[in-house]
Amino acid sequence: MALHSLRGFRDILPPDSARFAAIEAAAREVFALYGYQELRIPTIELKELFVKSTGETTDIVEKEMYAFTDGGGREVAVRPEGTPGVVRAYIEQNINQSGRNAKFFYIGNMFRAERPQAGRFREFEQIGAEHIGNASPLADAESITMLVRLLERAGLTDCSVDLNSLGCGECRKNYRQTLLAYLRGCSERLCEPCRGRIERNPLRALDCKIDGPWLAGSAPKLTLCPDCAEHFARVQELLKISGVPHNVNPGLVRGLDYYTRTVFEVRSSALGSQDAVCGGGRYDDLVKSMGGPAAPAIGWALGVDRLAMLLKDKPAPDCSTRAFVVAAGKEAASKAYALLSALRAAGISADFSNFDLSLRSQMRSADKSGAFYALILGEDEMRDGTVAVKPLKEAGEQTLVPFDSVPSTLKQLLKV
Ligand code: ATP
Ligand code: MG
Repeated sequence: MALHSLRGFRDILPPDSARFAAIEAAAREVFALYGYQELRIPTIELKELFVKSTGETTDIVEKEMYAFTDGGGREVAVRPEGTPGVVRAYIEQNINQSGRNAKFFYIGNMFRAERPQAGRFREFEQIGAEHIGNASPLADAESITMLVRLLERAGLTDCSVDLNSLGCGECRKNYRQTLLAYLRGCSERLCEPCRGRIERNPLRALDCKIDGPWLAGSAPKLTLCPDCAEHFARVQELLKISGVPHNVNPGLVRGLDYYTRTVFEVRSSALGSQDAVCGGGRYDDLVKSMGGPAAPAIGWALGVDRLAMLLKDKPAPDCSTRAFVVAAGKEAASKAYALLSALRAAGISADFSNFDLSLRSQMRSADKSGAFYALILGEDEMRDGTVAVKPLKEAGEQTLVPFDSVPSTLKQLLKV
């Protein structure tokens, strides 16, 4: 049987791979503007890390984790999300004691064993940002604004931010009871998994793909305490100041256990049912609950695969080389090889096909390559010590250039 990739795992070929790279480049530019630095976290961690932080009753931990026992008998998991690793690193590396602003971004692949479908894969890429140690609504507004600027820089123009507040532990304590009583009353309408988990985590039902939609209309709503209400109002006010349009959506819960106060999602209707591009929120209690200092935090994670899908109608970044070298014969091949080196040393991207093929066939490759110029070393050119420079993208005569002047001439022509 021919070898094949696993379901839900995919190859990303050019030009899509260039779209991914362009999104990452845009993200790095924007992160630098906001003072975020990169944190590279491991792909595999102790399973316990995700169970404790992401939460036992979440979809991720209940059914989507790639967890296994390693050769040393340790229960480990391939990361399904980035926040737990960042928080573990923050605590383990004593980052809070360095006196620096703990603003980190990560870029990496995540793994979830869920049913593959359009926009939902088992291995996918996330770009995430975490700001740890700042409780101010300014940190919320800055984080969300940075996300929107990043999406704009990457080329996404029509997205909207949904915003809600889940309150603090105090607001939720009362609400939990009210909601639980309500859910018990209509438990026969709930899906099987929700029936099993409402006693442990009634809020999960609100985020359930099956029950969430009907509960959004009928279930009792959370009332924020005065502090949380003020925080939420201030976040909205600050977002207005930075010109970030947003809608308050009281039905927005988010499926992870650790969120407190502000939660948000960016959606785009162009994605169909898998419409969330990014999700995030505040997690004021997580660092402490993981054994670290009391450090309030806010962060988000952006799905790069879904963002690339949204940008697929925009022209892909042009990754073709500028010059394409064509030569026939063994002697010409050596000369062409030297020319390729000289061009690259001068900062001009250059490629070739196969010098053993006919000039005509190599010219066909040159035409297809997307290069601006073909550099031809035929018999005449070899004899005269020249190279024929032929424009490929626009009409124009072929010119003969002395071999040694080709890099400088091309620099002029290409304005590089
Ligand atoms: P969904 O409701 O679509 O399952 P989620 O709430 O599980 O999303 P998060 O854990 O918040 O997603 O991850 C943030 C982003 O990562 C999502 O908005 C989405 O763009 C992306 N993402 C999550 N799971 C997948 C997946 N299986 N395949 C591709 N992208 C994904
Ligand atoms: Mg999910």
